Amino acid sequence: MVNAVKGVIAGAKGAPVQLTTILVPDPGPGEVLVRVQACGVCHTDLHYREGAINDDFPFLLGHEASGIVEKIGANVTNVAPGDFVILAWRAPCGTCRSCLRGRPWYCFASQNAQHKMTLPDGTPLSPALGIGAFAELSLVAAGQAVKINPAARPAAAGLVGCGIMAGLGAAINTGGVSRGDSVAVIGCGGVGNAAIAGSKLAGAHTIIGVDVDDRKLEWAKQFGATHTVNSRHTDPVQAIRDLTGGHGVNVAIEAVGRPETFTQAFYARDHAGTVVLVGVPNPTMTLELPLLEIFGRGGALKSSWYGDCLPTRDFPMFIDLYLQGRLDLERFVSETIALEHVEDAFHKMERGEVLRSVVVF
Ligand SMILES: [Zn+2]
Ligand SMILES: [Zn+2]
Repeated sequence: MVNAVKGVIAGAKGAPVQLTTILVPDPGPGEVLVRVQACGVCHTDLHYREGAINDDFPFLLGHEASGIVEKIGANVTNVAPGDFVILAWRAPCGTCRSCLRGRPWYCFASQNAQHKMTLPDGTPLSPALGIGAFAELSLVAAGQAVKINPAARPAAAGLVGCGIMAGLGAAINTGGVSRGDSVAVIGCGGVGNAAIAGSKLAGAHTIIGVDVDDRKLEWAKQFGATHTVNSRHTDPVQAIRDLTGGHGVNVAIEAVGRPETFTQAFYARDHAGTVVLVGVPNPTMTLELPLLEIFGRGGALKSSWYGDCLPTRDFPMFIDLYLQGRLDLERFVSETIALEHVEDAFHKMERGEVLRSVVVF
């Protein structure tokens, strides 16, 4: 059977998104059909619309989603109809060279549904990050549907599927932040503030939020920053050193994706400290650093892809911490909107007015 539902697509480079009818097939073997309950509006959706990721238009946007399993295909054993799930864009294959080495969070052959969601004329849609959840129904590989506690509010839970996981994981998984550490987070949007929340959860004693926007620094305090620095007025490297006895932080997290802010993170950390790059640079950017400084300062320069998360391990855990009141996922939901308002939400995001707009169905 094929299901006709409403979905938000990006039809051409730079053009406003459209709410239209799409066709979603029933699940084949190893696939799951999910009735989407909520889906956050992420920068990556905007990058797809701008043609900054690839040219495989039309895209079915949306990828930070939670929902209820509607139907399962043959050979699906990890979820059943009625289960509440978060959709993951990493579903480890179990057989690539990374999975076989016991590092499934670096899987190089993450699974997606084989059947295509299409326009009514049969044109196949490219689902954003292999999900496509600005739609009433979405078809994914079974491994992309991760069962969580149904007590979680869908709008908050879905955010764990992308940006919030990226930030939490940048601190906890990639940065290895642990109790007693000092941390600086440069860029206090959704991902940066999730890194702050993750650092707090992991027991960091000093957490310094850095941004050029006082509104974002106010959010940073609410998520657990012990200090904030407006880098429009103050040199952040000096300020971070001053706040850490002149030494710099153990872990500096770059959540912007620019050479200038990466360089700040590089110099703002203590000897043998770690820099984590979770902000996504564009293809034109290059970095110049003295090689002797890279050697002499020691430590580690790491990139964090999707927070180096293993969805089946991390999603249920963070949802449980949220339900215990230890992780404030609700605070990331700036507003809930209807499916037809995704384009407006992009503009609010570009103006820095929201942490997350979340489509609710
Ligand atoms: Zn793999
Ligand atoms: Zn995203």
